[in-house]
Order: sequence, then structure tokens, then C-alpha cells
Amino acid sequence: MTDGRIDSRRTSKPDRPNVAVLATGGTIAGAGSLGKATNYRPGQLDVNALLDMADGARSIADVKAVQICNVNSDDITAAHWIALARAIDDMAADPQIDGFVITHGTDTLDETAYFLNLVAKTDKPIVVTGAMRPATATSPDGPMNLLQSIALAGNPQARGRGVMVVFSDGIFGGRDVRKISTFQTDAFSASDFGCMGYMVDGVPHFYNASSKTHTVDTEFFVKDIEELPPVAVAYFTVDANPNVLDFFVKDGAQGIVVAGAGSGCYSKKWNERIVALASSGVPVVRSSRIGAGMITRDDSYGGNLINGNDLAPQKAAVLLRLALARTNDPAEIQAMFDRY
Ligand code: ASP
Repeated sequence: MTDGRIDSRRTSKPDRPNVAVLATGGTIAGAGSLGKATNYRPGQLDVNALLDMADGARSIADVKAVQICNVNSDDITAAHWIALARAIDDMAADPQIDGFVITHGTDTLDETAYFLNLVAKTDKPIVVTGAMRPATATSPDGPMNLLQSIALAGNPQARGRGVMVVFSDGIFGGRDVRKISTFQTDAFSASDFGCMGYMVDGVPHFYNASSKTHTVDTEFFVKDIEELPPVAVAYFTVDANPNVLDFFVKDGAQGIVVAGAGSGCYSKKWNERIVALASSGVPVVRSSRIGAGMITRDDSYGGNLINGNDLAPQKAAVLLRLALARTNDPAEIQAMFDRY
């Protein structure tokens, strides 16, 4: 209004989005020596304490706080993933909920984000965030990351974009994001593909979207999954012992992701073992330890191998586990790697 009259609509409480904040632990909930950024314990503060620290969080949205677990993300398991995804699917059916924020440790945040991107059956915004500094450090990064995430999750522009990660003012796609620093606060990147956009003062600015299939359009439903088949990632280095491949399978791995050198490469000795495993019906995915680029089919490697596309080994493992819950046919699994 510009003519001096009072706009009665503005004097009433403005409509705020309803955002569910699901906390799982991590450094964002970590506590240690006052002011220090190291030698702390992750997963100490509960979800309400995190919200209290994020000034303004409760005024930009009506927040429903849920504590899923409170762990170091290195202790996250597939059971946590399934519980989290089921909680999201259940709450998404509630018209009162507009979006979701998951607070998570940064170590395995990229895996959880990709898992949810593959299984969550809602187009309501799902935003995963965390922190590099514990809540007791000088200038912790968690409160701002949480505030920006709640703003994004409550914004209708964020619908239908798949799972997003908000970190250090960037919005990243859950499929492409990786942790790239062991300690700096700007710790996430989507490498070749860049971020999806930026968060500036609680306002999203979008630029990019992945063309890969996600959330409501995938064939994965957590209601059908009780547990995920175990797989192993075998990391190739000079002189790496190929016996680890057999060990993993004997120990119960139902599939193997090879973190190969360069474009998913490994020695002749590894190739012999890999071809033997693939011929015996164990799906083997070739991926790369490089962190950028993609894997294409290479006929110089024998066997019915699966190209891991551009997925990092840990993300290829997430997709392989979901794939194995449906099939162990390498051609069908390859189609999933091409699609997701
Ligand atoms: N170890 C911590 C975790 O992943 C690291 C962090 O959150 O930054 O839970």
C-alpha cells in the first residue's frame, strides 16, 4: 500500500510455510571445547537446540521438529535411510507439510541425499544440510545452513527439483553433490555440473537442474524395502591385492563397485578376478576414484560389467544396493545407472 491506509491483511500474521525438520546428528549437532572446530563429539544437541541456535528459523516457517536419530554420520546405516524415507513419505501425505529439512553429518551426507533422491515419493522440497563446525565452535556454520535450508524447503519454487543440499549459500543436487573438503566450511561441490543455485537471505536463485530421473518418477519405493543388499567398494591402487574382491563376495557382498584408476581402470590381475566374479553372477560396477568425468563401456575389459556413469563410487554403491533389491541382471542394472 502506498497511500497511507493500513492494509488490514498485513496486520494479521502472514501465512508461513510448514516445514518438517528431521534431525539425524552430525557436526551440526556437535559439541566440544568452546571455540574449537576440532576434537568435538558429533550428535550431541537435539533438534530443538539446533532450531534455537538458528535465529529466525521459527519465524520464517512453522516448524515441526522430529529427532530421527542423533549419530555421527559415519554410523548411519541403511536402516536409518529406510526409516528416514518412510517418515518423509508418511508426512508428505499431510497437506499441512510443505517441505522437509534433514540435518545430517557431512561425512556421508552425499550418500543419504542420493538415496532419498532415488526413493522419496513426493515433489515437496527435501533439503539436506549439515555443518563443518560444531555448535560450540567460534562462528559455527550450522545455524545459517539450517536457516537457509528451512527457507528453501518452505519455498514453492523448490518443488519438484529432487533432493537438494544446502551448504555455504549453495544449492546442490542430491545426485551430483560430493563433499570436497575435510575441514573448510565451503565443503560441498557438484564438480563438472556446478550448483543448482544460490540461497541469498533466504531467497533461492535457481540456474541448473539435473536431467536424471528422481523421487516420484523412480521405480524404488521404500515401502517395499525391508533392508538393502550389502555391496562393497574395492579401491584400486598400484599393487592392490585382487584377493580383496573375492574376500568381499565371500563375506556377503552381493555386488561390487570398483573405484578404478582414471576412467575406471585396473590391472590385469584385477581384471581376471573381476571377470570371474561377473561371470559367476556377481554384478560389478566400474567407477572412478578421480571425482570428475564419466565411465563408458570399454570392450578391453571382459565380462558383463556395468558402467558407473559419472557417479562417485559411494554413490554407485547406493544405486547398486537399490538395484539389487529388484534384480541382479546386469543389463537391467545398467539401464538404472543410465537413468538415475
Ligand atoms: N563426522 C561428522 C559426521 O559426519 C562430520 C560432520 O558432520 O561434518 O557426522
